[in-house]
Amino acid sequence: MLELRGVSKSYGPHQVLAGVDLAVAPHEVVAIIGPSGSGKSTLLKCINFLEPYDAGEIVFDGALVGYAERRGRRVRAPDAAIRAVRRHIGMVFQSFNLFPHKTVIENIVEGPIQVLGQSRDTAYAYAETLLGKVNLGDKRDARPASLSGGQQQRAAIARALAMRPRIMLFDEPTSALDPELVGEVLETMRELAAEGMTMLVVTHEMGFAREVANRVVFMDGGRVVESGPPELIFSNPTQTRTRDFLARVL
Ligand code: ADP
Ligand code: MG
Repeated sequence: MLELRGVSKSYGPHQVLAGVDLAVAPHEVVAIIGPSGSGKSTLLKCINFLEPYDAGEIVFDGALVGYAERRGRRVRAPDAAIRAVRRHIGMVFQSFNLFPHKTVIENIVEGPIQVLGQSRDTAYAYAETLLGKVNLGDKRDARPASLSGGQQQRAAIARALAMRPRIMLFDEPTSALDPELVGEVLETMRELAAEGMTMLVVTHEMGFAREVANRVVFMDGGRVVESGPPELIFSNPTQTRTRDFLARVL
C-alpha cells in the first residue's frame, strides 16, 4: 500500500533523512522506534507531503506522492493531486489539534462535510458510530478543553477515522499524556489494529510495539538501521545501535 524508496531530506546542510526504504502492506501495523532527532516525525510528514522530500520516491496506492514527472524532470504535483493523497491518509499527532471552539462531534464531522461533501445526516450518523468506537459517546457535545488528554486524543483519532482513511499515521500519540491516560489511547489503537486498519505508528511505547506491531523499524540518524518482527528486534537485535537504544528505553 505504501512504499518508500531511498527517501532523503535535508534542512539546509543538515540531512534528516538519508535514504529511507520502507514498505507497509495492507492491514499491517508497523511501529517506528528510535531516538529523538532520528527523523521519525519528518518521515511521517513526507508521507502525506506536509514536508517535501529531496530525493527518492514515496508511492501510495500506486501513485507517486507529491511529485510528478515532466519531461524527465521531477516537479511538484498539482495541489489537487496532493490533496487526493492526503484524503486517504489519516494523521494523529502528539498534540491533539482539535478545533477548540467546536464540540467533539462538530470536530469529527467537519472534514467529511467540508472536504468530502457528505450530507450532514451521513456525517453525523458516522460520527456517532465513531464516538461509540472510541468510547466517547457521552462527550458528543463537550468542548475539547473540558476533556482529559486521553479523551481529546481519542476524539482526534475519531476525527481522522471519519475521513475513512486507508492508512493511519500516528506520531507519538501518547507522549503528551499523563501516564494514567496512556492506556486508554493505546487500547483504542489496539482495537483499530485488530479491525485490520493499516497503521504506521511512531511510538515510545515499547509494550505496544511488541504486542501490536507486525513489524518494528528502528531508525537512527535518518536511516532505517534495522527492521523485523517485534520478537526479533526486542530479543535479538543484530545492530549495536538498536541494542544500545533498547538498553536505554526498556
Ligand atoms: P524525531 O521525530 O525522530 O525526533 P524529527 O523528524 O522531528 O525527529 O527531526 C529530525 C531532525 O530534523 C532534528 O535534528 C530536528 O532538529 C530537525 N528538524 C525537524 N524539523 C525541522 C525544521 N522544520 N527545520 C529545521 N530542522 C528541522
Ligand atoms: Mg518526532
